[in-house]
Amino acid sequence: MHDKLLYIETFGCQMNVNDSERIVSLLADCGYVSTGDPSVADMILLNTCSVRGGAEEKVYNRLANLRIYKRDGKKQIIAVGGCVAQQEGEELLRRLPYVDLVVGTHNLHLLQEMVQSAERGERRSETAFIDKEQRLDLFPSIKGESRLSRFVTVMQGCDNFCSYCIVPYVRGREISRRSSDILEEVRQLADDGVREVILLGQNVNSYGLKGESDFSFAELLCRVAVIDGIERIRFTTSHPKDMSDELISCFGDIAKLSGHIHLPAQSGSDFVLKQMGRGYTRQSYLEKITKLRSVRPEIVVTGDIIVGFPGESDVDFELTLSLMEEVRYIDIFSFVYSPRPGTKAAALNDDVSREVKKSRLDRLMALQRQHTREISQEMIDSVMSVLVEGEGKLPGQVSGKANNGRIVNFPGDVSLIGSFVDVKISKAYPNSFLGER
Ligand code: SF4
Repeated sequence: MHDKLLYIETFGCQMNVNDSERIVSLLADCGYVSTGDPSVADMILLNTCSVRGGAEEKVYNRLANLRIYKRDGKKQIIAVGGCVAQQEGEELLRRLPYVDLVVGTHNLHLLQEMVQSAERGERRSETAFIDKEQRLDLFPSIKGESRLSRFVTVMQGCDNFCSYCIVPYVRGREISRRSSDILEEVRQLADDGVREVILLGQNVNSYGLKGESDFSFAELLCRVAVIDGIERIRFTTSHPKDMSDELISCFGDIAKLSGHIHLPAQSGSDFVLKQMGRGYTRQSYLEKITKLRSVRPEIVVTGDIIVGFPGESDVDFELTLSLMEEVRYIDIFSFVYSPRPGTKAAALNDDVSREVKKSRLDRLMALQRQHTREISQEMIDSVMSVLVEGEGKLPGQVSGKANNGRIVNFPGDVSLIGSFVDVKISKAYPNSFLGER
């Protein structure tokens, strides 16, 4: 009997990438193995994201394209997961008769039985949010082949309700996982040969603040750091307002903690930050960056910026550019604002024209390219500790991530995979470095 084939497409953030890994692992128990070819798949699953404007239409269009593989009476399951599935629910089944399953963001634990019903020809949508107590037991570990670097979910959901963001509505309220479960999972990963863990959540640094854990996020980092075999710890994503002094001091105290932080500012204008409901000011954001650099001078910072938020004036936008000059991000994710139905900001007058949004985005990206180039050039001749993860871009090279999260290629053979190697940087590219041992 041949294995059943699963084709999965993932959109959006790291949480979704992690969920897709979990889906692959859950469906392996139902006899599915992954394929990159939708035309031969027994099941197609879109793991969707609704953070950007127009996301729902894109999902409907993509499903319409994929449906061609189901023609000619082929028995193929089409499933939709993630945030658009959560938002649309039954509507997806109603509008698209060829969709079999809709699985919401809190319902992955039902996926196996849903697939079994779909194999019997039943169509089903499950999008109910489950309560916190039940959810605490539903952060299943991802089974599968051991790798060097793995994500470990520490919390889910978000209580911040930034005015532009759909996440709290589609991912649900915030909940922290039990520290004992997290530490047990990290220990098991270390036993399986994992060398780096990336602690994951929508807002990791509010871990434990709602009372589900006896630890703060800083204490959790300290406990993970003493687990033998784990040589590097990273985390994503952090909210500036929850970046406590205790957590900042971890960057000075814990050598295993990566020298990179992703700290989304979104804007450099206090007026816009207030409209966004972000809960911090430009000044307090910059103070946190200064403190981080005082305990870890070489730390690299990445961020997110939204341009063209309702009411953003030329002066507000200039403040964002000047914030970028002060912080000097090595990289940013930049977005043009578009209203997400159901959010608070959708009720505001979207008064920045498309042309102005585009020209602001162009200026912002040009400034970022300049900063990336300059910061990367400054790193030439420095020595970075690289966890070698695989073969490099060119024959005879290997590739891995430096302690600051940047990709480094250097001459070496595959026997180095899995080890940490000190590499002297000789050349900087926009998204990677070249070096030598
Ligand atoms: S912190 Fe704000 S932007 Fe981030 S997920 Fe929560 S609501 Fe969305």
